[in-house]
Amino acid sequence: MKVFTTVEGLRAELTELRSAGQTIEFVPTMGALHQGHLSLIQRARRDGGVVVVSIFVNPTQFGESEDFETYPRDLEADLATARGLGVEVVFAPDAAEMYPGGEIRTTVDPGPLGRILEGAHRPGHFTGVATVCAKLFNIVGPDRVYLGRKDAQQVAVLKQMVGDLNFAVELVPCPTVREKDGLAMSSRNRRLSPGQRREAPVIFRALQAASAAARAGERSSDRLLGVCRAVLDRHPSVRVQYLEVVDQLTFEPVDRVPPDALLVIAAQLGSVRLIDNTIVGTAERPEREGVR
Ligand code: AMP
Repeated sequence: MKVFTTVEGLRAELTELRSAGQTIEFVPTMGALHQGHLSLIQRARRDGGVVVVSIFVNPTQFGESEDFETYPRDLEADLATARGLGVEVVFAPDAAEMYPGGEIRTTVDPGPLGRILEGAHRPGHFTGVATVCAKLFNIVGPDRVYLGRKDAQQVAVLKQMVGDLNFAVELVPCPTVREKDGLAMSSRNRRLSPGQRREAPVIFRALQAASAAARAGERSSDRLLGVCRAVLDRHPSVRVQYLEVVDQLTFEPVDRVPPDALLVIAAQLGSVRLIDNTIVGTAERPEREGVR
């Protein structure tokens, strides 16, 4: 496995691999790798090209009061994990390599989609995400990019960017991987106290309850949200920031639930902020897909 910290070094390597006829399968991450990331890497490997994983905690997608400083980082462990999975190339730049001079003048603004739900609670977040992904896509030049559906709005933002700006990449959304008790895997989970960790799966149980109601034929968003809230209300320490039934592409709220609507949630447990989502209304999609 080769590890690059500079754009120039990475590009030289990838140019060679590409001219040898290899496709580039790209998994962008912020490190602290867990089973969710691993599932993306395994999915990328199945597509047969060279797997490139980036590890970069991108400062521009964190707000002033957010957890950039305390975000978990463990490069050595991540490199060992990546090596064990047969990753060929890791790109682990520092902030100075990605943002020379500590700033960037040109940014990608995803418009209204970037300002609702996650974007409303984390102003500037999706501009940071879209901009760093635009940079990474231009640096890596991937054929395919593997993204987790756990960050559903991020998938929508990047789909929109790739379409609007004609990036020649295919985005491959992958299922959410969960702990046995349903909690969506996240690097932030390791910051939960034991008590919070025991409470956190209520988020998934609430989503499941609504999803079951939708499968049983409930088409009213209000009633699905009511089902969810009834579960969450029993856990006042799980402070819900938003809970909505939305269109999968625009993330606009819907009143009547179409077959592939998303139920999206963000909740705070102490200082840890967790997000999750599920499809409501599609009977075929297994509710516990990706559970370990
Ligand atoms: P992050 O390191 O949190 O920026 O995540 C990097 C990629 O892994 C993103 O595409 C995430 O959506 C994806 N990811 C994070 N958690 C999970 C999970 N539990 N299941 C599937 N994908 C995930």
